[in-house]
Amino acid sequence: MTARRPLAVANWKMNGDLSLVEAMASRLNKLGETKAQIVICPSFPFLAACKSQAQGFKVGAQNMSEQDCGAFTGEVSAQMLTGLEIEYVIIGHSERRAIYGEDDSLVAQKFAKALSAGLTPILCVGETIEQREAGDTEAVVSAQVKAVIDTHGVAAFDNAVIAYEPVWAIGTGKTATAEMAQEVHQFIRALVAQFDEVIAQKLPILYGGSVNSSNSQALFAQPDIDGGLVGGASLKVEDFAAICQSF
Ligand code: PEP
Repeated sequence: MTARRPLAVANWKMNGDLSLVEAMASRLNKLGETKAQIVICPSFPFLAACKSQAQGFKVGAQNMSEQDCGAFTGEVSAQMLTGLEIEYVIIGHSERRAIYGEDDSLVAQKFAKALSAGLTPILCVGETIEQREAGDTEAVVSAQVKAVIDTHGVAAFDNAVIAYEPVWAIGTGKTATAEMAQEVHQFIRALVAQFDEVIAQKLPILYGGSVNSSNSQALFAQPDIDGGLVGGASLKVEDFAAICQSF
């Protein structure tokens, strides 16, 4: 099996401020060598400050536009992110899909735009509780992954990350058990392997949904779980530092 470096990604959503950037940077910069690559994704206004203080970690954005530039008020382009030397971008988070109506086609466009700018996209996929109860988890996740492969080919996942985030587990305190999560992660890897085995083995697949410092170790010990996309717990410096050290 190919060794995949684990990833711990903090999604601050519309939370945090400069003092959190400073506190988090100062704590993470002191962590020393970690097994995991750490990525902090603050809101757009804090990207530059976060980047300027990042030594022991990388910085990502939470969203970006599918457009290059022009009359798109309120949008932020991939080039603006790479101009700040940002390396990662979260694409298709379930909140973007549910609240801002981002569909698979728009998500696939953003994904491709991020890649062509040299960013590493973190594609979020996951089912709602109704979809899980109807037995549709694999169909939903498969459609979300295939939306990218069908448009851009499996090579699009050569330098990318997938985050499996069951919608019912995000911000609810309800975590999928390590076994439940592993089952879907294994399914995603097998799906990508149908198109390209080498890319599938290299592909980091993160779990997201109420990850905290008490459940992270069991989740990250699963063979197909390569780390976490962490929301709430990533706003607490000590909790997130503990998650980063739980690999
Ligand atoms: C997320 O925002 O991607 C997330 C997983 O949030 P939380 O950890 O709070 O469930």
